[in-house]
Amino acid sequence: MSAKFGPAGTSDSFAKMGYKGSLGMPEYIVKMGLDAFEYQCGRGVNIGEDKARQFGVLAAEKGIALSLHAPYYISLAAAEEAKLDNSINYILQSARAADWMGATRVVVHPGGKGKMEREVAVNLAISTFARAIKAMDEEGLGHITLCPETMGKINQLGDLDEIMRFCAVDERVIPCIDFGHLNARTRGGLTTREDFRKIFDTLQNSIGTERMKKYHAHFSKIEYSEGGEVKHLTFDDTVFGPNYDYLMDITYKLGCSPTIICESAGTQAEDALQMKTYYKSLETK
Ligand SMILES: [Zn+2]
Repeated sequence: MSAKFGPAGTSDSFAKMGYKGSLGMPEYIVKMGLDAFEYQCGRGVNIGEDKARQFGVLAAEKGIALSLHAPYYISLAAAEEAKLDNSINYILQSARAADWMGATRVVVHPGGKGKMEREVAVNLAISTFARAIKAMDEEGLGHITLCPETMGKINQLGDLDEIMRFCAVDERVIPCIDFGHLNARTRGGLTTREDFRKIFDTLQNSIGTERMKKYHAHFSKIEYSEGGEVKHLTFDDTVFGPNYDYLMDITYKLGCSPTIICESAGTQAEDALQMKTYYKSLETK
């Protein structure tokens, strides 16, 4: 078992290297030395079944682990009932598209808290999340893993403890730990090895060793201010962080087999490869 690495969506180099469209992506991923890809449906699930299946075949041939990012406008704690129903529908649409392409994981943002007290919003979001899982089961999509993501802005639901509560809804749920987001919402809280270690302690205590080992991750350096996340940077940044070396070390030492998706701004494939290269160097030490 080993870690898999890949980009979120399309790096700038994809077009520069002459690739076009999602069907060109699997070859590009291999060419870049990577083995994972997160298909972006942040602005809506717009891929049709035929295209998704073609894409899935090409990715499977190349052994690429696929995940899919659900729409950003999902709001699991919306004040209006209709918006909650819509959010469940967006998760279902995402799960269907994931199933067509053979993606095993769907990453979901919990959304904001609106004018609610945080605890009220979290409880509502968790119950909507549970309804989404039930709807997926009823449609025969129970094999698709939902991955609730830790979020970068303090006002958004999804600090680490909240995401652990989402994971408690169903033992199939795997957390998407966005380390850049956690660093941003704690304004630089991920600096030392101990800072990273604590996240894994929380995972182990909350969801157990087996689920912890299969964690899903987003990793990028992210600019932050008072409210948390401002914007995604590249690995060239030396100001905001976080750095990936402790995460790679801990992942390797604990024998984890995560999927680690890089969300750098434009260089996500190159930066994913940087992490993978470092990780592989640990295996040969
Ligand atoms: Zn995300």
